[in-house]
Amino acid sequence: MGFMKALRCRECSREYPIEPVYVCEFCFGPLEVVYDYDAIKKALSREVITGRRKNLWRYRELLPIDGEPQAGLDSGFSPLVKAENLAEVLGVRELYIKDDTVMHPTLSFKDRVVSVALTKALEFGFDTVACASTGNLAHSVSALGARSGLNRFVFIPATLEQSKIVASIVYGPNLVAVDGNYDDVNRLCSEIANKYKWAFVNINIRPYYAEGSKTMGFEILEQLGWKAPGNVVIPCASGSLLTKIWKSFKEFKMLGLIDSLDTKVFAAQAAGCSPIAAAIKAGVEVIRPVKPDTIAKSLAIGNPADGFYATAAVKESGGWGEHVSDQEIIDAIKLLASTEGIFAETAGGVTLASAKKLIESGRIDRDSSTVVCITGNGLKTQEALAGHTGRVHHIKPNLASFEDVMKSIGR
Ligand SMILES: *Cc1c(COP(=O)(O)O)cnc(C)c1O
Ligand SMILES: [Zn+2]
Repeated sequence: MGFMKALRCRECSREYPIEPVYVCEFCFGPLEVVYDYDAIKKALSREVITGRRKNLWRYRELLPIDGEPQAGLDSGFSPLVKAENLAEVLGVRELYIKDDTVMHPTLSFKDRVVSVALTKALEFGFDTVACASTGNLAHSVSALGARSGLNRFVFIPATLEQSKIVASIVYGPNLVAVDGNYDDVNRLCSEIANKYKWAFVNINIRPYYAEGSKTMGFEILEQLGWKAPGNVVIPCASGSLLTKIWKSFKEFKMLGLIDSLDTKVFAAQAAGCSPIAAAIKAGVEVIRPVKPDTIAKSLAIGNPADGFYATAAVKESGGWGEHVSDQEIIDAIKLLASTEGIFAETAGGVTLASAKKLIESGRIDRDSSTVVCITGNGLKTQEALAGHTGRVHHIKPNLASFEDVMKSIGR
């Protein structure tokens, strides 16, 4: 049996039963899962958690399922890398990369949320899952849904990178490319979700799906030795991941799994799509939608569903927001790869480049510990680096040709 009590409206606090609903009938506020924390406190301890297998389900009492996990059984518990080379370059004392480029079947943190969403969809009795995606969610629903034997309808903007399309269609979903940007896709999917009885992971299953993001936060705290970092830098698309990592930190504090919480949360976005960072910088609560234009397509949501709550979490924690240019994204991808051997997709470039700027501007204290959340693998967005990498040495198959190379590089 699970530990959920109900769904609750984030605006007016009206409660709803655990069903595939996501919006309050009275005020149109988003619904969120509420748990019986007293019962969880009795059931969950550091010892219980560390005795379990190293995947995202080791925190299952804090996830919205009733029975056994049914998807993503080997997903999660990705490395928290102590990034000493990068720390030296950036001039900070203690820096960590939470590396979600690995330990997931489709190589992004989206496998966390989809594992929870598919388990919940199966508990609700759905036979078809669907999603509106900027790319990585499409991979995850396509792949994990195949494993679970579910029918899949996956909706993407038609402008998505070719490699991202291949990495979805190979799993055999019904892949629908929509002429328009993500916000157009999302609007269409809301209409479709009203008509068809499907589990749309990020629409009618969203309250459950979103909880899966908390596992990234739980892992960070456990891997730091049951301690919270001084700062955490998180990429934002809809703003859900940031909101849920903050929630995960507060839950561990409330349950006594960490002793203190004094973490500043920072939102990272691309300059070509930064409605959340812009609101934080301007000190306003209202998110002004934008038309995305950035190479960071996985973060290209111009009208972010959780933008308001992400902004509130950043403010509550004493953090800040930052946005970076496409060139800064590319430079940061190369910096992470060449210092720590981690190849991130464009969203990772956004996060690291934002962290760098926040350190340089003094928003992040060089003497405190910082975790940078890298959410997807660079093999997914290789096009973004075309024309921006070092040159390949192309030679004839003889020693003289190779020695010309040695001379040219001054060796
Ligand atoms: C979806 C995604 C995010 C953030 O998504 P939210 O909608 O803000 O939760 C971050 N990084 C990558 C690589 C993603 O695919
Ligand atoms: Zn309400």
